[in-house]
Amino acid sequence: MTVANAPVVTSVGAGTGDVLVEIEGLVVEYPVSGGSVRAVDDVSLAIRRGEIVGLAGESGCGKSTVAHSLLRILKPPGEITGGRVVFDGQDVLALAPKQLRQFRWRNVSIVFQSAMNSLNPVMKVGDQFVDMFKAHGHVRKSDALRRSAELMELVGIDPSRLRAYPHELSGGMRQRVVIAMALALNPELLVMDEPTTALDVVVQREILREIEVLQRELGFAVLFITHDLSLLVEFSDRIAIMYAGKVVELGAARELFDGPLHPYTVGLMQSFPPLSGERLRLTGIPGSPPDLRDPPPGCRFHPRCPRAERRCSTDEPQLTASAHGRLAACHFPGEVA
Ligand code: SF4
Repeated sequence: MTVANAPVVTSVGAGTGDVLVEIEGLVVEYPVSGGSVRAVDDVSLAIRRGEIVGLAGESGCGKSTVAHSLLRILKPPGEITGGRVVFDGQDVLALAPKQLRQFRWRNVSIVFQSAMNSLNPVMKVGDQFVDMFKAHGHVRKSDALRRSAELMELVGIDPSRLRAYPHELSGGMRQRVVIAMALALNPELLVMDEPTTALDVVVQREILREIEVLQRELGFAVLFITHDLSLLVEFSDRIAIMYAGKVVELGAARELFDGPLHPYTVGLMQSFPPLSGERLRLTGIPGSPPDLRDPPPGCRFHPRCPRAERRCSTDEPQLTASAHGRLAACHFPGEVA
């Protein structure tokens, strides 16, 4: 089958494994004067049990909006106006508020970028653990503290630090505390939304290595969101690349790294220095992402694309299985070195 006549893929990347999450045709809109903006436009993505899926793209491409839609924590006026989110057979978009409380933390939990914003600065860490356990079931304080100590050890922090206030911990320790809380109720999926962006590069990798070990021990799946593609390549099984509200490439992490198909993926890879290996000049991506109130016709990336041809400004490429056996939304996949 040639790339040109390959079918449009609507349920992306489910593979043959046991699918835990299936996002299909997700659309998220924000009202603006005279209409609405599609921050997420027909995004499909599947996550298998125990799999680490990375989601990368520049700020504002919609990657966090996808994650927030999955947890139904989208802030108004953002609204899911299309598509489905199915978690282990249940329709997440149809869950009632009480079911949602159970769903969050027990089925899916999220770690945000800034631990300081997730922790209460005037409460000791231990008390915050106890509050969290009590909010999700009737537990004795002594049991909650015992479990909290186990979780602190799990993420490499001395349990005595449960008596500390957040400001008495380093940035890396605070982020580990938030990760420990996110794992408290044994979720099947951990969403990490730029979890280490605020940390230095050494602590960043240390924490991600620890998560990798925990993930192997406990078996949860991870949706890992970042703008740093080099991090994703190290830690993900598969990677989805988003641009201007759409998934433009999806594939196994190593294959995507060794042979990116979409010119935007190539540009992202050239925007971050590798930690090891040959020193290369970083070229980045010229220009900026489009204004989604008025996206360019055809391929949304065409004003910035070094491979663009005339048809790119009129025909929108669909996310399609390429001759390489991966998915890319480009008329000329794999043709940019
Ligand atoms: Fe570039 Fe054209 Fe591919 Fe878009 S469709 S990424 S403009 S080559």
